[in-house]
Amino acid sequence: MNPKMLSVHYTAECAKRCAGCYLEPLRGCNEIDKSEWLKLPTVALSAGIEKIAIAVNDPGLKPVNVGYECIFAADFINECSKNKIKADITTIADVANYLYMYDLNDSPSLFSKIDVFSISVDHSKVPGLRELSRVCKIAEGISKKGIGSLNANFLINRNGKIKFEWFRELLKYFNTVHIIFEKPFPYSKDEYYTIIESMDKHGIFEDERFIVDPCVLFRMGLVNNCHSCSYMVDISPNGDVAGCVYSHCNYPIGNVNKMEDLPDLLEQTEEMLVTNCDFLEFVTINENNEERCSNSH
Ligand code: SF4
Repeated sequence: MNPKMLSVHYTAECAKRCAGCYLEPLRGCNEIDKSEWLKLPTVALSAGIEKIAIAVNDPGLKPVNVGYECIFAADFINECSKNKIKADITTIADVANYLYMYDLNDSPSLFSKIDVFSISVDHSKVPGLRELSRVCKIAEGISKKGIGSLNANFLINRNGKIKFEWFRELLKYFNTVHIIFEKPFPYSKDEYYTIIESMDKHGIFEDERFIVDPCVLFRMGLVNNCHSCSYMVDISPNGDVAGCVYSHCNYPIGNVNKMEDLPDLLEQTEEMLVTNCDFLEFVTINENNEERCSNSH
């Protein structure tokens, strides 16, 4: 197997409880020590990895927690930079703001060592225009720090209306907007077609600054592969390595609670070609018009 990218969740602990969080089943698991995680960039380089995307959760509002998270994120980014591995960070607006303040006096800026910095925007965290403009303001500050690219991860879930006008507003401050759907799928196949049609009408597919969830496009037969097929593997807080970011247990590869095991593990693993994905079964509506998810996990 020859993946070029790792997606890393070093902790499942988080002060937020967002809808559809796929780290939920991992809360309380035996997490790898942060000092071990810091060995990952050096080990990844020897395994031919070019990029590591790491998610920084919300450590809660206690300044001491936030401080530790910022220090770890900074150390990890610096390790990637030393090894010439591209670092992507995904986080929420609050943490992005703390990282920005943490970095204020640093030169060169931490942000200049990040390839893509993504801020999650979903209905539970950004319910209205006031919150949206706060996110945009934070993005505006970060954009002045020599960052590679700023991306907004817009999560579509059952509880929120899709606000196409927000997508355009976000593009004034972000280089790209990644439109991600909640998993397991909360919609029926017909509903997806309707959403995809509206996206088309709003010119989403014509503008390459919008990136639509490849899982959805794959499941609907509109593209030939998903995240899992060849280029990216996921590492969970307990060191489990899997071929799919969302559906860890369906595509297991092994475990790296010792980071040094990663190159051999990837070497011995066959390339995985997902031709279908049961994690993304569509919701079906029964005779009583009640929804049930046909997903078995
Ligand atoms: S295996 Fe399924 S959920 Fe995972 S990345 Fe591929 S389509 Fe998405």
